[in-house]
Amino acid sequence: MPEPQRLTLENLAQLLERRGLISDDQRKNLVTRGRSQESRLFALQHSGTSRRSNISAELVSPTEVVVSFNLEIPGRSGDILSEDIITETLAAASGLPYLKIDPLALDLNVVTAHIPRPFALKNLMVAVAESAGVITVAVADPFNDAIITDLASARRLEIKRVLSSKSDILKILREFYGFRASVVAAEAEASTAVDLGNLEQFFKLKGQQEIEGNDKHVVSAVDFLLNYAFDQHASDIHVEPKRDTSLIRFRIDGVMHNIHVIPKPLHAPIVSRIKMLSRMDLAEKRRPQDGRIKTSFNTKDIELRVSTVPVAFGEKIVIRVFDPDILLQDLDSMGFYPREMSLYSSFLRRPNGIILVTGPTGSGKTTTLYSSLRTLSSPEVNIVTVEDPIEMVMEEFNQIGVQQGIGVSFDSILRNILRQDPDIIMIGEIRDRETAENAVQAALTGHLVLSTLHTNDSASTVIRLLDLGVPSFLISATLLGIVAQRLVRNICPHCSRARDLSQDECDYLQLPLPSYSVREGAGCKQCRGTGYKGRSGLFEVLEMNDHLKTLVSRSAQLADIVAAARQEGLVTLREIAIRKMLEGITTYEEVVAMTG
Ligand SMILES: [Zn+2]
Repeated sequence: MPEPQRLTLENLAQLLERRGLISDDQRKNLVTRGRSQESRLFALQHSGTSRRSNISAELVSPTEVVVSFNLEIPGRSGDILSEDIITETLAAASGLPYLKIDPLALDLNVVTAHIPRPFALKNLMVAVAESAGVITVAVADPFNDAIITDLASARRLEIKRVLSSKSDILKILREFYGFRASVVAAEAEASTAVDLGNLEQFFKLKGQQEIEGNDKHVVSAVDFLLNYAFDQHASDIHVEPKRDTSLIRFRIDGVMHNIHVIPKPLHAPIVSRIKMLSRMDLAEKRRPQDGRIKTSFNTKDIELRVSTVPVAFGEKIVIRVFDPDILLQDLDSMGFYPREMSLYSSFLRRPNGIILVTGPTGSGKTTTLYSSLRTLSSPEVNIVTVEDPIEMVMEEFNQIGVQQGIGVSFDSILRNILRQDPDIIMIGEIRDRETAENAVQAALTGHLVLSTLHTNDSASTVIRLLDLGVPSFLISATLLGIVAQRLVRNICPHCSRARDLSQDECDYLQLPLPSYSVREGAGCKQCRGTGYKGRSGLFEVLEMNDHLKTLVSRSAQLADIVAAARQEGLVTLREIAIRKMLEGITTYEEVVAMTG
């Protein structure tokens, strides 16, 4: 029997049953209830509009109907029949290659140059690659080859089809065409008025404020960009001026990805729009500035911290995305092992003293501090923070931002903060002797003080405090404990596989046995071939017990402190990293990168 030329719920259900993805009962149920489910989905998506449409994007596909039933695949307990699984099955049945679209691997120009947006929406297709004159087009319907043939002859293109899910295609159509349309429109509008090279001058003539307020294309280009970044879970957005272009890059799970290259004349207007949103001084282009934007994505509040810095070819903007779900985790879900968690919790329960969190930039110290303060906060306690700058605005805390420009320094705030009757004080970072002394003073007068220090491990933190000029007897009197932390990347659960450590690798980590079985990510579409997904924290916790206090007050050397701490049961960052590796959470390479 030849393959049917149109995808219907009936023949999709038959195919899925043949492939063992649904049972006979599930198939019958699908066919019986499919029609009414389709109308329900349509009404949901269009809130009541009539269903007269020939635009595929607006119709409910048989795949969507099946997905909406959340069917459990027979014999694969808990596995739900997803759009990706159905699309992959359809691809295999129709002889088309299956493509899970990775938006970061796409080139904006390829996506938007060959197929006009209305045509792409109407027929649910998107150009995903171009090589040696052949365009690869992802389609959602395996049976629309006639349309592709027409497109190829009309546009004189050689087209190769691959099958992708409707949601993947729609996402690209919205994000890429929207951004491209805005950029092209903004560029066109600007170039009709004046030579592109003089765009900046033109904007000056028109008046900064007026241009930014009125240029709807620049406004929507920035909107598209931000939404795209949130959707991709980017932690940072970089807008970098180059000689002839402007480069937009995202950082995702710690790794930078090139996203768009846009025409240089649009760099300044886009930067201005972002500066305006973050309430910066638009006219100031020579000095670095900081600002923040509060916005929302999928009903979730997101906070953006924006900074500008002048570089050779203009102003560079970096936007840090603060996702509350990531920044405010439960202490329990951050990756502490039980011994370290119980020690750290015991510090937090003390009425006064200093708790220090240490580690290099980007090791997650702020998350630990915020999450700790979150667990301590209640209507009965007054939490005051002094930060430079405020990382994330939290209503439960009284946050004070350092403003060097007007003389509001760490030191001056700390000198006055005790009058604010705080119970718990968080100091963003101890950088100098004055701040250290203020922290000690606050602890001595009955406050719990949390802060960070830029040191590598817990024991050397004590030495650093001594170096800053804090007398050893005051360290002994106030320091409760130290948490040294790092972040390592987690192995992608979708492509995790076992491997054995070589003799050399075991030797390098000084492991006692000649061989161990560990895991690594093979690289798959879910993790963009990196083999990693998400990150987790490593925590080394040192408690300042009586023995250590005596040592410190006798001005002991680092080696003595380390030896004593080891005797008391300190588990080092390195040991914790190795444990995470042996548990299959992270890789040998991450452990080496972290410890090396
Ligand atoms: Zn993977």
